Amino acid sequence: MTHLELRNITKAFGGFEVIRGVDLAVNKGEFLVFVGPSGCGKSTMLRMIAGLETITGGQLVIDGAVMNDEAPVKRGVAMVFQSYALYPNMSVRQNLAFGLEQARMPKPEIRERVEAAAETLKITPLLDRRPGALSGGQSQRVAIGRAIVRDPDLFLFDEPLSNLDAELRVHMRVELKALHARLGRTMIYVTHDQTEAMTMADRIVVFRDGQIEQIGSPLELYNSPVNRFVAGFIGSPQ
Ligand code: ADP
Ligand code: MG
Repeated sequence: MTHLELRNITKAFGGFEVIRGVDLAVNKGEFLVFVGPSGCGKSTMLRMIAGLETITGGQLVIDGAVMNDEAPVKRGVAMVFQSYALYPNMSVRQNLAFGLEQARMPKPEIRERVEAAAETLKITPLLDRRPGALSGGQSQRVAIGRAIVRDPDLFLFDEPLSNLDAELRVHMRVELKALHARLGRTMIYVTHDQTEAMTMADRIVVFRDGQIEQIGSPLELYNSPVNRFVAGFIGSPQ
C-alpha cells in the first residue's frame, strides 16, 4: 500500500530549481534511504515532505490526499535533524513534552508518552537534565524521542547519526532498525554513509542534481547500477 506519493515535485529558490521533477511512491512501513552528493536536494525534499518548506510545483500525496498546503501536524510526519535542534533552556523531559503541550494534549497522556519514549530510547535517567549536560549520542536520542512521542505515521531522518563517532553510529543503526521493526512506521532516512544505506534500507533512492538517478533495493543497486555515478555511491565494483 502506498503511504506517500511525490508527483512531479519541483522546488525553486529564487528562480533556481534545486528539485527538478521528482516522482516517487513510498510504501507503508517501508524504510527508504535517500543518498546523493551534498547539495543535490535531499534535505530540501525532506523539508517539503515535513511541511517546513513550500513546494514550488507538483503534488505531495499522503494516504491518497494532496497535502501540499497542509500544516506539518496534519501530515502525520515528524522529522529528526542532524543538529538535534533541542531547546537548551528546557530539561529533556520538557523537550520531549513541548510539542504535545503545544497541541494541548492532556497532561497524563503527555507524561505517559514521554516516559514510554524515554524507556524505548534508554534516556529515562536523563529526563531532568538540560541538553547542555548531554553527550552527542544522548542528544540524538532525545531528538529521536521528540519525534516518537508524537506517534507519527511517517518519520523523516536527516543524517541523524553523522555527528556521532563511528562506534556509536553502528550501535544506533541497529537501534533505529529495531525501532522501525517495533513501530512498523514508514521511515525516510537521509545519509551519506554507504554502509548505513546498504544495511538499513528496504530501498535506496539515489539523488543527483535534484533528480532521482535510480531507485532499488540495496542488492539491485549494487548488482545493477544504471551508471558509474550510482555505482560510485553504492560502492559496487566499477
Ligand atoms: P543536500 O541535503 O542534498 O545536501 P540541500 O537540500 O540542503 O541538499 O540543498 C539543495 C540545494 O538547494 C543546494 O544548492 C542549496 O544551496 C540550495 N538551498 C537549500 N536551502 C536553500 C535556501 N533556503 N535558499 C536558497 N537555496 C537553498
Ligand atoms: Mg542535507
